[in-house]
Amino acid sequence: MAKITFSIGGVHPDDAKLSRGCAIEVLPLPQTMYVSMAQHLGAPAKPIVAVGDKVKTGQVIAEPGGFISAFVHSPASGTVKSIGPRKDLAGNNVTHIEIAVEGDEWVEGVDLSDTLVTEIQEDRQAILDRIKACGVVGLGGATFPTHVKLNPAPGSVAECLILNGAECEPYLTSDFRIMLERTKEIVVGAAIMQKVLGGCRTVIGIEENKPEAIEAMKKAVAELPYKIEVLPLKKKYPQGGEKQLIQAVMHREVGSGGLPISVGAVVQNVATSLAVYEAVQKNKPLITNVLTVTGNCLPVEKQHNYLFRIGMPLSYIAEYAGGVPEAAGKLISGGPMMGRAIANLDAATVKGSSSILYLSAESTKRGQESLCIRCGRCSDACPMGLEPFLLHRLYKAGDVDGLEANAAQDCIECGCCLYSCPAYIPLLDRVRQAKGMAMAAIRARAAAKQAAKESKTK
Ligand code: SF4
Ligand code: SF4
Repeated sequence: MAKITFSIGGVHPDDAKLSRGCAIEVLPLPQTMYVSMAQHLGAPAKPIVAVGDKVKTGQVIAEPGGFISAFVHSPASGTVKSIGPRKDLAGNNVTHIEIAVEGDEWVEGVDLSDTLVTEIQEDRQAILDRIKACGVVGLGGATFPTHVKLNPAPGSVAECLILNGAECEPYLTSDFRIMLERTKEIVVGAAIMQKVLGGCRTVIGIEENKPEAIEAMKKAVAELPYKIEVLPLKKKYPQGGEKQLIQAVMHREVGSGGLPISVGAVVQNVATSLAVYEAVQKNKPLITNVLTVTGNCLPVEKQHNYLFRIGMPLSYIAEYAGGVPEAAGKLISGGPMMGRAIANLDAATVKGSSSILYLSAESTKRGQESLCIRCGRCSDACPMGLEPFLLHRLYKAGDVDGLEANAAQDCIECGCCLYSCPAYIPLLDRVRQAKGMAMAAIRARAAAKQAAKESKTK
Protein backbone atom coordinates (compact mmCIF):
# COMPACT_ATOMS: atom_id res chain seq x y z
CA MET A 1 0.00 0.00 0.00
CA ALA A 2 1.27 3.44 -0.89
CA LYS A 3 2.46 5.33 2.15
CA ILE A 4 0.49 8.37 3.23
CA THR A 5 2.23 11.62 2.41
CA PHE A 6 1.91 14.88 0.47
CA SER A 7 2.24 14.71 -3.28
CA ILE A 8 4.51 17.56 -4.38
CA GLY A 9 8.22 17.92 -3.65
CA GLY A 10 9.88 17.24 -0.30
CA VAL A 11 13.32 15.93 0.60
CA HIS A 12 14.83 13.19 2.76
CA PRO A 13 17.48 14.59 5.11
CA ASP A 14 19.06 12.26 7.69
CA ASP A 15 16.68 12.48 10.65
CA ALA A 16 19.54 12.43 13.21
CA LYS A 17 17.22 11.93 16.20
CA LEU A 18 20.20 11.56 18.52
CA SER A 19 18.25 12.46 21.67
CA ARG A 20 15.27 10.16 21.06
CA GLY A 21 16.25 7.89 23.95
CA CYS A 22 16.56 10.73 26.47
CA ALA A 23 13.62 10.87 28.87
CA ILE A 24 12.29 14.32 29.76
CA GLU A 25 14.18 15.87 32.70
CA VAL A 26 12.82 18.78 34.74
CA LEU A 27 15.14 21.80 34.83
CA PRO A 28 15.61 23.47 38.23
CA LEU A 29 14.62 27.13 38.49
CA PRO A 30 17.34 29.73 37.90
CA GLN A 31 17.72 32.81 40.14
CA THR A 32 16.38 35.21 37.53
CA MET A 33 13.87 34.74 34.71
CA TYR A 34 12.96 37.09 31.87
CA VAL A 35 9.45 36.73 30.51
CA SER A 36 8.95 38.05 26.98
CA MET A 37 5.80 39.94 26.00
CA ALA A 38 6.12 38.64 22.43
CA GLN A 39 5.67 34.89 22.92
CA HIS A 40 2.94 34.53 20.33
CA LEU A 41 1.85 35.62 16.89
CA GLY A 42 -0.06 38.90 16.95
CA ALA A 43 0.06 41.93 19.23
CA PRO A 44 2.54 41.77 22.15
CA ALA A 45 1.02 41.24 25.59
CA LYS A 46 0.74 44.21 27.98
CA PRO A 47 2.31 43.93 31.45
CA ILE A 48 -0.19 44.27 34.31
CA VAL A 49 2.34 44.05 37.14
CA ALA A 50 4.71 46.75 38.42
CA VAL A 51 8.30 46.69 39.61
CA GLY A 52 8.40 45.50 43.22
CA ASP A 53 5.20 43.40 42.96
CA LYS A 54 5.24 39.92 44.46
CA VAL A 55 4.06 37.26 41.99
CA LYS A 56 3.17 33.59 42.29
CA THR A 57 3.81 30.78 39.80
CA GLY A 58 1.00 30.74 37.23
CA GLN A 59 -0.21 34.27 38.02
CA VAL A 60 -1.23 36.44 35.06
CA ILE A 61 1.48 39.07 34.57
CA ALA A 62 0.47 40.34 31.12
CA GLU A 63 -2.79 40.49 29.23
CA PRO A 64 -3.49 40.22 25.48
CA GLY A 65 -2.58 43.33 23.49
CA GLY A 66 -5.24 42.71 20.83
CA PHE A 67 -7.65 40.14 19.38
CA ILE A 68 -4.75 38.00 18.17
CA SER A 69 -2.60 37.93 21.29
CA ALA A 70 -2.32 35.89 24.50
CA PHE A 71 -2.09 36.07 28.28
CA VAL A 72 1.34 35.55 29.82
CA HIS A 73 1.85 34.02 33.29
CA SER A 74 4.66 34.07 35.79
CA PRO A 75 6.91 30.99 35.53
CA ALA A 76 7.93 31.12 39.22
CA SER A 77 7.15 32.93 42.44
CA GLY A 78 9.23 35.96 43.34
CA THR A 79 9.49 39.71 42.87
CA VAL A 80 9.19 41.74 39.68
CA LYS A 81 12.63 43.30 39.37
CA SER A 82 12.29 45.26 36.13
CA ILE A 83 10.08 45.74 33.08
CA GLY A 84 11.76 46.88 29.92
CA PRO A 85 13.52 46.04 26.70
CA ARG A 86 15.79 43.01 26.47
CA LYS A 87 17.29 41.33 23.43
CA ASP A 88 15.50 38.27 22.06
CA LEU A 89 17.03 35.37 20.16
CA ALA A 90 17.63 37.40 17.02
CA GLY A 91 19.00 40.40 18.95
CA ASN A 92 15.81 42.51 18.68
CA ASN A 93 14.64 44.53 21.68
CA VAL A 94 11.45 43.13 23.17
CA THR A 95 9.73 44.07 26.44
CA HIS A 96 10.44 41.50 29.17
CA ILE A 97 9.35 41.21 32.77
CA GLU A 98 12.35 40.31 34.92
CA ILE A 99 11.51 38.14 37.92
CA ALA A 100 13.84 37.55 40.87
CA VAL A 101 12.95 33.95 41.68
CA GLU A 102 12.20 33.25 45.34
CA GLY A 103 10.41 29.93 45.10
CA ASP A 104 7.69 27.97 43.34
CA GLU A 105 4.49 28.89 45.14
CA TRP A 106 1.59 28.43 42.70
CA VAL A 107 -1.60 30.46 42.46
CA GLU A 108 -4.69 28.79 43.91
CA GLY A 109 -6.86 26.52 41.81
CA VAL A 110 -4.23 24.73 39.69
CA ASP A 111 -4.28 20.92 39.83
CA LEU A 112 -0.61 19.91 39.99
CA SER A 113 -1.30 16.20 40.49
CA ASP A 114 -0.52 13.53 37.88
CA THR A 115 -4.09 12.19 37.96
CA LEU A 116 -5.45 11.79 34.44
CA VAL A 117 -8.79 13.57 34.01
CA THR A 118 -10.65 12.06 31.07
CA GLU A 119 -14.17 13.39 31.50
CA ILE A 120 -14.67 16.63 29.58
CA GLN A 121 -17.25 18.53 31.58
CA GLU A 122 -17.03 22.10 30.30
CA ASP A 123 -19.14 23.31 27.37
CA ARG A 124 -17.64 24.74 24.19
CA GLN A 125 -17.47 28.38 25.30
CA ALA A 126 -16.13 27.53 28.76
CA ILE A 127 -13.37 25.45 27.12
CA LEU A 128 -12.42 28.30 24.77
CA ASP A 129 -12.39 30.75 27.70
CA ARG A 130 -10.16 28.41 29.72
CA ILE A 131 -7.72 27.95 26.82
CA LYS A 132 -7.55 31.72 26.38
CA ALA A 133 -7.14 32.39 30.12
CA CYS A 134 -4.27 29.89 30.27
CA GLY A 135 -2.39 31.60 27.44
CA VAL A 136 -2.27 28.55 25.15
CA VAL A 137 -0.66 29.14 21.75
CA GLY A 138 0.32 26.79 18.94
CA LEU A 139 3.56 25.04 19.84
CA GLY A 140 4.37 23.69 16.39
CA GLY A 141 6.25 26.84 15.41
CA ALA A 142 3.65 29.47 14.58
CA THR A 143 2.54 30.28 18.19
CA PHE A 144 -0.89 31.38 16.94
CA PRO A 145 -3.32 31.83 19.87
CA THR A 146 -5.18 28.52 20.16
CA HIS A 147 -8.55 29.92 21.30
CA VAL A 148 -8.72 31.94 18.07
CA LYS A 149 -7.76 29.00 15.84
CA LEU A 150 -10.36 26.76 17.51
CA ASN A 151 -13.10 29.31 16.91
CA PRO A 152 -13.49 29.56 13.13
CA ALA A 153 -15.42 32.49 11.66
CA PRO A 154 -19.19 31.98 11.18
CA GLY A 155 -19.82 29.98 8.02
CA SER A 156 -16.60 27.97 8.32
CA VAL A 157 -16.99 24.34 9.28
CA ALA A 158 -14.23 22.17 10.73
CA GLU A 159 -14.45 18.75 9.08
CA CYS A 160 -11.16 17.37 10.32
CA LEU A 161 -8.85 18.13 13.24
CA ILE A 162 -5.32 16.96 12.47
CA LEU A 163 -2.88 16.57 15.32
CA ASN A 164 0.63 17.06 14.07
CA GLY A 165 2.96 14.46 15.55
CA ALA A 166 5.19 14.32 12.47
CA GLU A 167 8.17 16.16 14.01
CA CYS A 168 9.79 15.97 10.59
CA GLU A 169 12.68 18.37 11.33
CA PRO A 170 15.94 16.47 11.85
CA TYR A 171 17.36 16.32 15.41
CA LEU A 172 14.23 17.49 17.29
CA THR A 173 12.75 14.94 19.70
CA SER A 174 10.61 16.95 22.15
CA ASP A 175 7.32 15.97 20.46
CA PHE A 176 8.46 12.35 20.27
CA ARG A 177 9.17 12.28 23.99
CA ILE A 178 5.85 13.85 25.00
CA MET A 179 4.04 11.38 22.72
CA LEU A 180 5.73 8.60 24.73
CA GLU A 181 5.54 10.16 28.19
CA ARG A 182 2.29 12.18 28.13
CA THR A 183 0.38 10.03 25.63
CA LYS A 184 -3.03 9.95 27.26
CA GLU A 185 -2.99 13.64 28.13
CA ILE A 186 -2.38 14.41 24.44
CA VAL A 187 -5.32 12.20 23.44
CA VAL A 188 -7.63 13.90 25.97
CA GLY A 189 -6.42 17.27 24.65
CA ALA A 190 -7.38 16.14 21.15
CA ALA A 191 -10.81 15.08 22.38
CA ILE A 192 -11.30 18.50 24.02
CA MET A 193 -10.49 20.26 20.74
CA GLN A 194 -12.71 17.81 18.87
CA LYS A 195 -15.59 18.80 21.16
CA VAL A 196 -14.94 22.51 20.58
CA LEU A 197 -14.96 21.92 16.82
CA GLY A 198 -18.30 20.13 16.89
CA GLY A 199 -17.15 16.50 16.98
CA CYS A 200 -15.32 16.41 13.65
CA ARG A 201 -13.05 13.60 12.43
CA THR A 202 -9.83 13.71 14.46
CA VAL A 203 -6.53 12.24 13.26
CA ILE A 204 -3.14 12.07 14.95
CA GLY A 205 -0.50 11.98 12.19
CA ILE A 206 2.91 10.56 13.16
CA GLU A 207 5.91 9.90 10.88
CA GLU A 208 6.78 6.23 10.52
CA ASN A 209 10.28 6.76 11.97
CA LYS A 210 8.64 6.96 15.41
CA PRO A 211 7.10 3.47 15.72
CA GLU A 212 7.13 3.60 19.54
CA ALA A 213 5.07 6.80 19.48
CA ILE A 214 2.63 5.31 16.95
CA GLU A 215 2.16 2.21 19.12
CA ALA A 216 1.80 4.22 22.35
CA MET A 217 -0.73 6.54 20.77
CA LYS A 218 -2.74 3.65 19.27
CA LYS A 219 -2.86 1.96 22.67
CA ALA A 220 -3.98 5.16 24.40
CA VAL A 221 -6.67 5.82 21.79
CA ALA A 222 -7.97 2.24 22.20
CA GLU A 223 -8.15 2.63 25.98
CA LEU A 224 -9.89 6.02 26.05
CA PRO A 225 -13.55 6.67 25.20
CA TYR A 226 -13.09 8.98 22.19
CA LYS A 227 -13.25 8.55 18.44
CA ILE A 228 -9.73 9.40 17.32
CA GLU A 229 -7.54 7.82 14.60
CA VAL A 230 -3.78 7.38 14.61
CA LEU A 231 -2.31 7.66 11.12
CA PRO A 232 1.31 6.64 10.38
CA LEU A 233 2.81 8.95 7.75
CA LYS A 234 5.69 8.45 5.37
CA LYS A 235 8.97 9.93 6.56
CA LYS A 236 9.42 12.88 4.25
CA TYR A 237 10.32 16.48 5.01
CA PRO A 238 8.27 18.75 5.49
CA GLN A 239 5.55 16.23 6.41
CA GLY A 240 4.64 18.38 9.43
CA GLY A 241 3.91 21.48 7.33
CA GLU A 242 0.29 22.48 7.81
CA LYS A 243 -0.65 22.39 4.14
CA GLN A 244 1.34 19.19 3.56
CA LEU A 245 -0.43 17.41 6.43
CA ILE A 246 -3.83 18.48 5.14
CA GLN A 247 -2.95 17.20 1.70
CA ALA A 248 -1.70 13.88 3.07
CA VAL A 249 -4.66 13.28 5.40
CA MET A 250 -7.59 14.93 3.58
CA HIS A 251 -6.35 15.01 -0.02
CA ARG A 252 -7.33 18.69 -0.19
CA GLU A 253 -5.28 21.66 -1.33
CA VAL A 254 -5.32 24.94 0.59
CA GLY A 255 -5.36 27.61 -2.11
CA SER A 256 -2.86 30.46 -2.40
CA GLY A 257 -3.27 32.78 0.60
CA GLY A 258 -5.97 30.51 2.04
CA LEU A 259 -6.29 29.18 5.58
CA PRO A 260 -6.67 25.48 6.48
CA ILE A 261 -10.26 26.11 7.59
CA SER A 262 -11.11 27.09 3.99
CA VAL A 263 -10.88 23.34 3.21
CA GLY A 264 -12.42 22.28 6.52
CA ALA A 265 -9.14 21.57 8.33
CA VAL A 266 -7.74 22.61 11.70
CA VAL A 267 -4.15 21.57 12.48
CA GLN A 268 -2.72 21.56 15.99
CA ASN A 269 0.60 20.27 17.25
CA VAL A 270 0.73 17.41 19.80
CA ALA A 271 2.45 19.74 22.29
CA THR A 272 -0.45 22.19 21.91
CA SER A 273 -2.83 19.32 22.63
CA LEU A 274 -0.97 18.66 25.87
CA ALA A 275 -1.19 22.38 26.76
CA VAL A 276 -4.95 22.31 26.03
CA TYR A 277 -5.34 19.30 28.33
CA GLU A 278 -3.44 21.03 31.12
CA ALA A 279 -5.44 24.25 30.67
CA VAL A 280 -8.90 22.71 30.54
CA GLN A 281 -8.58 19.70 32.85
CA LYS A 282 -6.00 21.08 35.29
CA ASN A 283 -6.46 24.87 35.03
CA LYS A 284 -2.71 25.04 34.45
CA PRO A 285 -1.43 28.00 32.40
CA LEU A 286 1.14 27.50 29.65
CA ILE A 287 4.44 28.19 31.39
CA THR A 288 6.27 24.98 30.48
CA ASN A 289 7.29 23.17 27.33
CA VAL A 290 9.87 20.58 26.31
CA LEU A 291 13.09 21.56 24.58
CA THR A 292 15.75 19.33 23.00
CA VAL A 293 19.45 20.02 23.56
CA THR A 294 21.18 18.17 20.76
CA GLY A 295 23.59 18.37 17.85
CA ASN A 296 26.22 16.52 15.87
CA CYS A 297 29.06 17.78 18.05
CA LEU A 298 27.57 16.58 21.35
CA PRO A 299 28.35 13.15 22.80
CA VAL A 300 25.35 10.89 23.53
CA GLU A 301 25.46 11.56 27.28
CA LYS A 302 25.10 15.31 26.69
CA GLN A 303 21.94 15.04 24.57
CA HIS A 304 18.82 15.95 26.55
CA ASN A 305 15.10 16.64 26.47
CA TYR A 306 14.24 19.16 29.17
CA LEU A 307 10.99 20.40 30.64
CA PHE A 308 11.75 24.13 30.85
CA ARG A 309 9.77 27.10 32.11
CA ILE A 310 9.30 30.13 29.90
CA GLY A 311 11.74 32.87 30.86
CA MET A 312 14.71 30.61 31.54
CA PRO A 313 17.65 32.08 29.60
CA LEU A 314 18.97 29.76 26.88
CA SER A 315 22.46 30.29 28.33
CA TYR A 316 21.25 28.90 31.68
CA ILE A 317 19.96 25.75 29.96
CA ALA A 318 23.12 25.41 27.85
CA GLU A 319 25.26 25.73 30.98
CA TYR A 320 23.14 23.22 32.89
CA ALA A 321 23.51 20.77 30.01
CA GLY A 322 27.32 20.98 30.17
CA GLY A 323 28.18 24.15 28.25
CA VAL A 324 28.49 25.02 24.58
CA PRO A 325 30.70 22.40 22.91
CA GLU A 326 33.97 23.74 21.53
CA ALA A 327 33.33 22.14 18.16
CA ALA A 328 30.03 24.00 17.70
CA GLY A 329 30.17 26.20 14.62
CA LYS A 330 26.53 27.22 14.67
CA LEU A 331 23.80 27.41 17.31
CA ILE A 332 20.23 27.10 16.13
CA SER A 333 16.86 27.44 17.82
CA GLY A 334 14.54 24.96 16.10
CA GLY A 335 15.56 22.38 13.53
CA PRO A 336 18.35 22.66 10.96
CA MET A 337 15.91 23.17 8.07
CA MET A 338 13.61 25.92 9.38
CA GLY A 339 15.25 27.00 12.64
CA ARG A 340 16.83 30.38 13.32
CA ALA A 341 20.45 30.99 14.17
CA ILE A 342 20.85 32.00 17.81
CA ALA A 343 22.42 35.46 17.76
CA ASN A 344 22.01 35.94 21.50
CA LEU A 345 22.38 32.95 23.84
CA ASP A 346 21.25 35.10 26.78
CA ALA A 347 17.80 35.33 25.19
CA ALA A 348 14.96 33.98 27.29
CA THR A 349 13.02 30.88 26.32
CA VAL A 350 9.47 31.47 25.12
CA LYS A 351 6.40 29.26 24.89
CA GLY A 352 7.43 28.00 21.45
CA SER A 353 11.11 27.26 22.17
CA SER A 354 11.90 23.77 20.90
CA SER A 355 15.65 23.28 20.90
CA ILE A 356 19.20 24.38 21.29
CA LEU A 357 20.91 22.71 18.37
CA TYR A 358 24.71 22.67 18.11
CA LEU A 359 26.03 21.96 14.64
CA SER A 360 29.74 21.48 13.97
CA ALA A 361 31.55 24.05 11.86
CA GLU A 362 32.35 21.30 9.37
CA SER A 363 28.71 20.33 8.83
CA THR A 364 27.50 23.91 8.39
CA LYS A 365 30.17 24.98 5.95
CA ARG A 366 28.48 26.35 2.84
CA GLY A 367 29.95 25.70 -0.57
CA GLN A 368 30.99 28.63 -2.74
CA GLU A 369 27.92 30.12 -4.41
CA SER A 370 28.00 29.80 -8.19
CA LEU A 371 25.63 30.60 -11.03
CA CYS A 372 22.32 28.80 -11.39
CA ILE A 373 22.72 25.89 -13.80
CA ARG A 374 18.96 25.60 -14.31
CA CYS A 375 18.89 22.01 -13.15
CA GLY A 376 15.38 22.44 -11.70
CA ARG A 377 16.16 20.52 -8.51
CA CYS A 378 14.86 23.37 -6.33
CA SER A 379 11.50 23.30 -8.16
CA ASP A 380 11.30 19.50 -7.86
CA ALA A 381 11.94 19.76 -4.11
CA CYS A 382 9.53 22.62 -3.36
CA PRO A 383 6.46 21.24 -1.54
CA MET A 384 4.46 24.34 -2.47
CA GLY A 385 5.00 23.88 -6.20
CA LEU A 386 7.00 27.12 -6.50
CA GLU A 387 9.98 27.82 -8.72
CA PRO A 388 12.64 29.00 -6.28
CA PHE A 389 15.22 29.75 -9.02
CA LEU A 390 12.71 32.10 -10.64
CA LEU A 391 11.79 33.75 -7.33
CA HIS A 392 15.49 34.25 -6.74
CA ARG A 393 15.87 35.96 -10.10
CA LEU A 394 12.79 38.15 -9.60
CA TYR A 395 13.99 39.09 -6.12
CA LYS A 396 17.37 40.18 -7.47
CA ALA A 397 15.57 42.28 -10.10
CA GLY A 398 13.30 43.83 -7.43
CA ASP A 399 10.25 42.70 -9.43
CA VAL A 400 7.55 42.73 -6.75
CA ASP A 401 4.68 42.16 -9.21
CA GLY A 402 6.51 39.18 -10.64
CA LEU A 403 7.11 37.77 -7.16
CA GLU A 404 3.45 38.05 -6.29
CA ALA A 405 2.36 36.58 -9.63
CA ASN A 406 4.65 33.61 -8.96
CA ALA A 407 3.25 33.15 -5.44
CA ALA A 408 6.35 34.04 -3.39
CA GLN A 409 3.86 34.76 -0.59
CA ASP A 410 3.01 31.03 -0.44
CA CYS A 411 6.54 30.00 0.50
CA ILE A 412 6.50 28.10 3.81
CA GLU A 413 10.24 28.70 4.37
CA CYS A 414 10.92 24.97 4.59
CA GLY A 415 14.42 25.14 3.10
CA CYS A 416 13.95 22.22 0.66
CA CYS A 417 15.19 24.41 -2.20
CA LEU A 418 18.38 25.36 -0.37
CA TYR A 419 18.94 21.73 0.60
CA SER A 420 18.70 20.66 -3.05
CA CYS A 421 20.70 23.35 -4.84
CA PRO A 422 24.05 22.13 -6.27
CA ALA A 423 25.11 25.75 -6.93
CA TYR A 424 24.97 26.58 -3.19
CA ILE A 425 22.72 29.57 -3.83
CA PRO A 426 21.34 30.75 -0.46
CA LEU A 427 17.83 30.21 -1.76
CA LEU A 428 16.09 30.12 1.62
CA ASP A 429 17.39 33.55 2.68
CA ARG A 430 16.54 35.04 -0.71
CA VAL A 431 13.10 33.45 -0.97
CA ARG A 432 12.30 34.59 2.58
CA GLN A 433 13.15 38.14 1.56
CA ALA A 434 11.18 37.74 -1.66
CA LYS A 435 8.19 36.56 0.35
CA GLY A 436 8.55 39.60 2.62
CA MET A 437 8.42 41.89 -0.43
CA ALA A 438 5.33 40.19 -1.87
CA MET A 439 3.57 40.19 1.52
CA ALA A 440 4.33 43.88 2.05
CA ALA A 441 2.77 44.69 -1.34
CA ILE A 442 -0.32 42.62 -0.52
CA ARG A 443 -0.70 44.29 2.89
CA ALA A 444 -0.23 47.80 1.44
CA ARG A 445 -2.93 47.12 -1.16
CA ALA A 446 -5.34 45.82 1.50
CA ALA A 447 -4.69 48.88 3.70
CA ALA A 448 -5.29 51.25 0.77
CA LYS A 449 -8.53 49.43 -0.08
CA GLN A 450 -9.69 49.65 3.53
CA ALA A 451 -8.83 53.38 3.71
CA ALA A 452 -10.77 54.04 0.48
CA LYS A 453 -13.77 52.12 1.85
CA GLU A 454 -13.68 54.09 5.10
CA SER A 455 -13.41 57.47 3.33
CA LYS A 456 -16.49 56.55 1.20
CA THR A 457 -18.59 55.79 4.27
CA LYS A 458 -17.68 59.10 5.97
S1 SF4 B 1 11.63 27.52 1.16
FE1 SF4 B 1 9.86 28.21 -0.02
S2 SF4 B 1 10.55 28.22 -2.15
FE2 SF4 B 1 12.03 26.99 -0.98
S3 SF4 B 1 11.26 24.90 -1.17
FE3 SF4 B 1 10.36 25.72 0.73
S4 SF4 B 1 8.37 26.55 0.09
FE4 SF4 B 1 9.58 26.23 -1.78
S1 SF4 C 1 18.64 24.03 -7.74
FE1 SF4 C 1 20.03 25.78 -7.78
S2 SF4 C 1 21.14 25.53 -9.68
FE2 SF4 C 1 19.37 24.18 -9.85
S3 SF4 C 1 17.76 25.46 -10.82
FE3 SF4 C 1 17.53 25.71 -8.64
S4 SF4 C 1 18.71 27.55 -8.14
FE4 SF4 C 1 19.41 26.85 -10.15
